[in-house]
Amino acid sequence: MSPFSSIKLFYLLLLSLLPFIGFSYTHDVETRGNQVILTGEYKPNIPTPADILGYHIGERFADYRNLERYIMAVADVSDRVVIHEYGSSYQHRPLRVLYISTPENIRNLERIKQDNVSLTDPRTISDPRAEEIIESIPAILWLAYNVHGNEASGTEAALLTIYHLAASEDTELLAALENIVIVLDPLVNPDGRERYVHYINDMSQRNPNPDPQSIEHFETWPRGRSNHYFFDLNRDWAWLTQKETRQRVDLYRQIMPHVYVDYHEMGRESTYFFFPATPPIHPNYPEGVKEWGIIFGNGNAAMLDRYGVPYYTGEVFDLFYPGYGDSWPTFNGAIGMTYEQSGGSTGRAYKRKDQHILTLAERVHNHFLTGLSTIHTVQKNRAELLRYFYSFWKDSISEMPDEIKSVLIKKGSDPNRTNDLINVLLQHGIEVHELTTDKNIRQVTHYFSDQPENHSFPAGTYVINFNQPKSRLAKTLLEPHTELPDTFFFDITAWSLPAAYNTEAYTAQSYITADVRKITEPLQSMGSVSGYASYAYVISWEQDKAASVLWETLKNDYSAVFAMRSFVTQGREFPPGSIIYFTRMNAASLHDDLQRTALKYGVDVYATNTGLSEDGIDLGSNWVRPIIKPKIAITTDRPVIPGEYGELWFLFDEVYGIPFTPLRTEQLRNLDLSRYNVLILPSDGSGQGYRTTLDSNTVESIRQWVQRGGVLITIGGASQFATKENSGLTSVSSSATGNNNDSGDVDKERRERLMRMGFFERQEYLQRERIAGALFRVNFDNSHPLGFGYGQTITILKRGSQTLQLSDRGYNVGIFADQGPQSGYASKYLVEKVQNTAYLIDFPVGDGRIVMFSDNPHFRMFWHGLTKMFLNATLFLH
Ligand SMILES: [Zn+2]
Repeated sequence: MSPFSSIKLFYLLLLSLLPFIGFSYTHDVETRGNQVILTGEYKPNIPTPADILGYHIGERFADYRNLERYIMAVADVSDRVVIHEYGSSYQHRPLRVLYISTPENIRNLERIKQDNVSLTDPRTISDPRAEEIIESIPAILWLAYNVHGNEASGTEAALLTIYHLAASEDTELLAALENIVIVLDPLVNPDGRERYVHYINDMSQRNPNPDPQSIEHFETWPRGRSNHYFFDLNRDWAWLTQKETRQRVDLYRQIMPHVYVDYHEMGRESTYFFFPATPPIHPNYPEGVKEWGIIFGNGNAAMLDRYGVPYYTGEVFDLFYPGYGDSWPTFNGAIGMTYEQSGGSTGRAYKRKDQHILTLAERVHNHFLTGLSTIHTVQKNRAELLRYFYSFWKDSISEMPDEIKSVLIKKGSDPNRTNDLINVLLQHGIEVHELTTDKNIRQVTHYFSDQPENHSFPAGTYVINFNQPKSRLAKTLLEPHTELPDTFFFDITAWSLPAAYNTEAYTAQSYITADVRKITEPLQSMGSVSGYASYAYVISWEQDKAASVLWETLKNDYSAVFAMRSFVTQGREFPPGSIIYFTRMNAASLHDDLQRTALKYGVDVYATNTGLSEDGIDLGSNWVRPIIKPKIAITTDRPVIPGEYGELWFLFDEVYGIPFTPLRTEQLRNLDLSRYNVLILPSDGSGQGYRTTLDSNTVESIRQWVQRGGVLITIGGASQFATKENSGLTSVSSSATGNNNDSGDVDKERRERLMRMGFFERQEYLQRERIAGALFRVNFDNSHPLGFGYGQTITILKRGSQTLQLSDRGYNVGIFADQGPQSGYASKYLVEKVQNTAYLIDFPVGDGRIVMFSDNPHFRMFWHGLTKMFLNATLFLH
């Protein structure tokens, strides 16, 4: 029997006991037409949503303004509710949570939070004191709505829940509030939801139109799911790239809830989902996680049974990827869970295939009910939840049964990039130390190597020990490999942060506790100019943020050149790609401007008084090339995948501060490309979107623009579009065959097997036959300008099975190594397809070039190690 079916059996047994543990209510909720109606006893002084909004919940979608009006009105008169503003979105909308409990708990909120947080470090609290706290404080339940903006029933359910919790006189609820503090975030992603609500309100008729073909059920690009920069906030918890996430995590760490529920919506033809999750469950979780999923599932099942609502558990939604709103809280001692109602991105009524009309009112009704059942489950299990919470932290500091006890990360040639990684760990509350002296450590293993060695580490090397309260999260984010079951994964299967930041990292078989100093403050980027130069200033391209300094100086019309080969000046080696500013070619203000930008970006600039190098090329060598100021355009809107554009938008706008112009793809034929010297085509998925959007005249005008010296950068699906099979912009082939001598036999064998498979067997086989996101080694030509600032191998994250065959006309700058993934899951069949294909091609066309990435180098913007390679493409190929 699989673990999954034993969970299911246990669950069914418990379900049969439900009549004995059911609920009794003095209130009720029902849907009447398009309205959700609460009946029961309510305090008359608390305004209902209809009092403030002028309509009943379910009849319309509340925009941000109406949400704000309602929560303010309730908080004004209720002694059970206080509002806390914890930050703002990129579009400057305040982010707020409501604390809801009895007036007494609300008065004692600060003490409750402090006592609770003290349980998270068992090194500083005695067991008797912990037991005292466990006996005395309420449980903390966090309800979070609408992290995906277009799963819009969430915030509507939040409004109804707020009214109920603030106004209900139900004795069971009042008893529950004595034992629970509810942290309610009615709108995690205001910018995305506002985008959706604006659309749906624009398109809505007077009465809801359930016709599935109505325009209101087909949201336009980029849709409301994501935040301002089109990031999925339910994938960002681990990487903390977006300010909404960072502010929420700061707040979270001051509260540390025991239960976190993330409200979602899923396909319209589906029903309702709640935990237990389906495998894979990440192996770094404690065992108790699965049991709690069942306990909460039973409570929700009892509630939805009472109302006859169809639902399912233990399918589709797993608990593996650490960046979700269920998994990340679970790595922080909470029971984190996702609840999914059918109906995301759907208008107020929708006629399903089963002829049922799914209304907004029904969607709100169901989410409201699971809120109540979750409150009841927390109430019944308050002390046990707190005991689980305390033991989670206690177990995390004791030794884990694993060979890896700690991780060491060297500062490396770009200490600021390493600082960024360390700062992410610190923001999670992970303890980091640094070596106070040079140290030789025995039995350490370089990431992705199998060979333990004795290695000496310089002072300043970062150390993360896995015997700290946050060791489960630390291990999950940092370890090179995670033990993987052979199954279907909902998201990527590998992420190892030291690899993502392209750092030199090692695992050790011991805790490193001697000669270390704890890092207590976020690390600051330090930069300087080494002196006043009479001849030239030089910047090493090993530093990522050199690109920001370069851009600012280009913007101010300073002239710069870059070295194609390395040189040594002032006793220091500068690798290829290093930037040189000759003082004679620039205004006298250069020094001050460099000083200012060096400090701003944490970049080291070196002054030299001679062009004669101590080794390598001289500064005026023929191997030195001018830098042409990039004038960048990026295609956007359909058929581009919103997130793929959003990552580039974020990269230039927020990370590097380099301007670009977004161009609507379907207008390309009418636009003047000569205004730009770099054109970036983000991925559309497969290349077919570009194929149908760009006609042959537009493709021809792009080709001519490249021939005249333009640099066209294509990513993922856009690179497929640039192949000879599609637009013919290059002679590169996308064909997935021919790269491996055995592929003919492999294909044949696979076909033979597939033809004889049973119904489920075949579906499962095809589901597993993918690369959901795994780390691959790429052999890299760092003598090519695209490779400047890198070593001879890099680790990249590959998703999907699209390939680019090696080109005989272009430079194959990155080639997938002849091996399986370094980390993560990939089917054997696809691994063979990927080996020895191209990751990165520089394809010359006339005076210009086409730079093709087989995969997105900045997926979700947490793979920081590859951004410079991408900037090389914009700066060094003119
Ligand atoms: Zn969702």
